[in-house]
Amino acid sequence: MRILLVEDDAMLGETLQSALEPQGYTVDWLTDGQQALHAISDQHFDLVILDLGLPRLDGMTVLQNVRNKGIQTPVLILTARDTIADRVKGLDTGADDYLLKPFDLAELNARLRALTRRAHGRANSQIVYGSLSLDPQSQQVFYQQQEVSLHRREFMVLHQLLEHVGKVVTRQQLEQSLYGWGEDIESNALEVHIHHLRKKLYPELIKTIRGVGYIIQEQQP
Ligand code: CA
Repeated sequence: MRILLVEDDAMLGETLQSALEPQGYTVDWLTDGQQALHAISDQHFDLVILDLGLPRLDGMTVLQNVRNKGIQTPVLILTARDTIADRVKGLDTGADDYLLKPFDLAELNARLRALTRRAHGRANSQIVYGSLSLDPQSQQVFYQQQEVSLHRREFMVLHQLLEHVGKVVTRQQLEQSLYGWGEDIESNALEVHIHHLRKKLYPELIKTIRGVGYIIQEQQP
């Protein structure tokens, strides 16, 4: 899962980035509203964490523009503005959640998981696919009741594919969910992760769509 973090407070930005990455997120971090609007318009993110008081363009305007463009990425507003009017305005402008600073990291994480769930129309936190299950919170994967040990990026690939069962996930989308800006992408890294997943789970799980990406197909009833 790829998160865009928009926060101009350097200390908080750093704290958040280093706290979220171990939770299985790739975090890209921007400190100004104008850049954030460009990034959200041009690239795919699974979630956006948005501060309101930002240089160049305030968060509410960013959000308004994003929604006017029809971009539906879930947005969580993270702000110290705590009047009811602010909260109502944020949610009415198209935010999916609103969290006040100072906040607790465990609560932020739980809210991010809830947003992901809702965005994919799931009511349960676990993703279950046949005898395979993935728990985004504990970052555990079970196959036929046995825990399967996956490396961080293997987990991220599987998570992304399982969130989009029945849909092709493009190479680009997978790579973007694995690597933040400025991280080097080795040309065959994705193939290697897929290879390992097929080996650790089962070969037919992930289908290659040549020249496009990968898919976990809808299960036959
Ligand atoms: Ca701020």
